Amino acid sequence: MTMTAESAAQAAYIVAALLFVLSLAGLSRHESSRSGALSGIAGMAVALIATAVLAIDRLDLDSGKAQVGLALTVVAVLAGAAVGLQRARQVEMTAMPELIAMLHSFVGLAAVLVGWNGYLQVEHASSQTEVAPDLLTIHHAEVFIGVFIGAVTFTGSIVAFGKLSGRINSSPLMLPAKNVLNLGALGVFAVLTIWFTASPNLALLTAVTILALLLGWHLVASIGGGDMPVVVSMLNSYSGWAAAASGFLLNNNLLIVTGALVGSSGAYLSYIMCQAMNRSFISVIAGGFGAVQPVAAGQDYGEHREILVEDAVQLLKEASSVVIVPGYGMAVAQAQYPVADLTKRLRERNVEVRFGIHPVAGRLPGHMNVLLADARVPYDIVLEMDEINDDFATTSVVLVIGANDTVNPAALEEESSPIAGMPVLRVWEAQDVIVFKRSMAAGYAGVQNPLFFRANTQMLFGDAKQRVEEIVRAL
Ligand code: NDP
Repeated sequence: MTMTAESAAQAAYIVAALLFVLSLAGLSRHESSRSGALSGIAGMAVALIATAVLAIDRLDLDSGKAQVGLALTVVAVLAGAAVGLQRARQVEMTAMPELIAMLHSFVGLAAVLVGWNGYLQVEHASSQTEVAPDLLTIHHAEVFIGVFIGAVTFTGSIVAFGKLSGRINSSPLMLPAKNVLNLGALGVFAVLTIWFTASPNLALLTAVTILALLLGWHLVASIGGGDMPVVVSMLNSYSGWAAAASGFLLNNNLLIVTGALVGSSGAYLSYIMCQAMNRSFISVIAGGFGAVQPVAAGQDYGEHREILVEDAVQLLKEASSVVIVPGYGMAVAQAQYPVADLTKRLRERNVEVRFGIHPVAGRLPGHMNVLLADARVPYDIVLEMDEINDDFATTSVVLVIGANDTVNPAALEEESSPIAGMPVLRVWEAQDVIVFKRSMAAGYAGVQNPLFFRANTQMLFGDAKQRVEEIVRAL
């Protein structure tokens, strides 16, 4: 290895780390998000080039083994890039969280493989050469912890992917003594770590891998559908720590810095989301610790009323103020463009129009804001839940467009509801509420919504985009 390549790569790593920090800072505000994304892309390009140069510099290119290794790496990178590019192009924005969950599982798997490789390589080297015992103990601890975090992330992310894509039931798995199981697994992990650092062997590494795979699966399976946004950001955090652990093993400073950035920002995002949803952070990261089995919803809320497009138009013509509450259904229907048209028409008629955005509306943080910004809805009329919640009582008409869990009064009124305690938009306080959806089906959390049966609520059934277009035409 030449000194120049090594120092150039380390310098490039510092530049890449700074670009990642700039990227996070940029992505935290809508106006600077584009430049934030560009900084991230530039940082990743610098990091990839520097790592490739360093790896090639370290190889003895005359050896056949090194040549095969290099060829395999190139093939793997090209194949991975092709699949990644195609998936990213095809993915619908509503399927973004499941794609992210899937990508987290790869980070977890990579950390497990790096850990195993680190152990096997050092075992092999230390049987032939003298390695300082102190360093070896640290190395073994790094291997063990890295494999544990990686394996928890791997299976946890697979279950999250399954739940988000509807392949696995979104209701929480309630095994008897589930908290004892989780805490017990952590206790066993602590004991195994001490044992492994004192006398490392393959059986212990295999045991911790299996333990962590089961724990990751159980942790996420125990969390209910309504809490999935927190789970996704929590797994994001775990994948960061798994990458940082791999960075220690591979002696790669950039991986340590990047992993720590992802790990800590993911943890902070989970914390903010827990606050927004009035959930205990500790309870969610401990796999629903302390959560009680929700009572099955079979309550009879009475009859719902339907409304036709003409009558909805009439209500809007008479309204002085309208609040539009979008949700996941608006994203599915791609109704944001007619919704932007409707907003324009109503404002031309001097109706005050505003939007109320719940922090977990849709399927990813900021989902609704992105869609509305894309449809050029003016930014100053798009308000957060806390900014609009007290104004519903003085609103003439609320249009709930494809939102369900985020406007469910059961969260405030029914203690046994799976979403009890979650703050929601109090749309039912308005004079009239029109709910746009296709059927009486429940929302993501699988809970019936008593809003649909209230005296001032009327259901406008059908695809949200079609219905809003019809209203715009009639106006
Ligand atoms: P929900 O997922 O609760 O409900 C969406 C509603 O949209 C459904 O009731 C559905 O009813 C309706 N809908 C679907 N397609 C259409 C269509 N084409 N036209 C009209 N309506 C349609 O939405 P919310 O946004 O209120 O809540 C988000 C939920 O997702 C919360 O439970 C949240 O915890 C969870 N979540 C959020 C994440 C985030 O980061 N924001 C990530 C993961 C989960 P119907 O089928 O009858 O049409």
